Amino acid sequence: MQELAAAIRETARKLLEEKTVDLVIGFASGSLPLRSTPCFIRKPEDAAKLVFDAGCENNLANYLRQRDEKVAVVAKGCDTRAIVVLLQENQIKRDNLYIIGVPCQGMIDRVKIDALLDGKDLLAAEVQGEAVTLKTAAGEKQVALVDVLHDTCKTCQYGNPVIYDVLLGEPVKPRQADDFADVKAFEALSPAERKARLTEEFSKCIRCYACRNACPMCYCSECFVDCSTPIWIKKSVDPADNMMFQAVRVFHLAGRCADCGACDRACPMGLNLRTMTRKLVMDVKELFGYEAGVNLDAKPALSEFAFDDPQPFLVKE
Ligand code: SF4
Ligand code: SF4
Ligand code: SF4
Repeated sequence: MQELAAAIRETARKLLEEKTVDLVIGFASGSLPLRSTPCFIRKPEDAAKLVFDAGCENNLANYLRQRDEKVAVVAKGCDTRAIVVLLQENQIKRDNLYIIGVPCQGMIDRVKIDALLDGKDLLAAEVQGEAVTLKTAAGEKQVALVDVLHDTCKTCQYGNPVIYDVLLGEPVKPRQADDFADVKAFEALSPAERKARLTEEFSKCIRCYACRNACPMCYCSECFVDCSTPIWIKKSVDPADNMMFQAVRVFHLAGRCADCGACDRACPMGLNLRTMTRKLVMDVKELFGYEAGVNLDAKPALSEFAFDDPQPFLVKE
């Protein structure tokens, strides 16, 4: 990863020096191990701040809209899928974008790491292949990378960028395919059980909207939750309105969700948002054979209509 980070810095420095772009968006180190922060570089000498490691989990496609300047972005597989959707929706211009593609073997979930450390502070973490060494004041511990990845990354099929101007590093192999077992288990519940499960989950939501703000595809100039005429949902939190917010958010992402997991990771209350977003990912894949952001030339599933489109949802309870 150190070599990949060095290649990113060198590419960014050159792009700025040669004035190919005005801005490079990448990652800088955070204040804790396995934490990084989006970083905006305008001067070649500042390219030295860029890093790339298993803590670079933000989807940087979120920062590309509404820019007139020429921008380069460091993009993992899921970031490039989001970029493809934004290009298809005319939210960004390909001519103004330089994509620094980086293969990604997955981002580490700090919550899973903390659970392994028995309350000790993580001082450093190093990923070597499929193993991670965790350093605490009590010593070192080795864990398998796959055991501490974010759930999204455990089943990622698109770790390699699907679109790029330059590809740095070595391609990675797809991980185990998603069998949507949790979604199917949820669907197997009775309507009353599903409602009880959702009510319990959504009673935790504090409506901070971090999930919405972290998503590159959630870009309406006025979100329905902020409308005052009409008022769709109350400002105060209650499970029914919280559920309505998520139901609308998720439906707006049908056929557009790049399954990057950014919404789920952003939630400070630990709500399980992935089962809902992946329900739509699964349905769109099964019904229309379509995965969002994988192919720039493919027509988005919900942008076209055919008389023989499958419509089982019209009669399902
Ligand atoms: S979803 Fe895939 S590309 Fe995105 S961070 Fe995880 S492994 Fe990397
Ligand atoms: S991030 Fe979590 S707590 Fe905040 S609005 Fe979304 S679901 Fe609710
Ligand atoms: S809904 Fe969540 S998983 Fe899907 S693209 Fe948005 S942030 Fe990523």
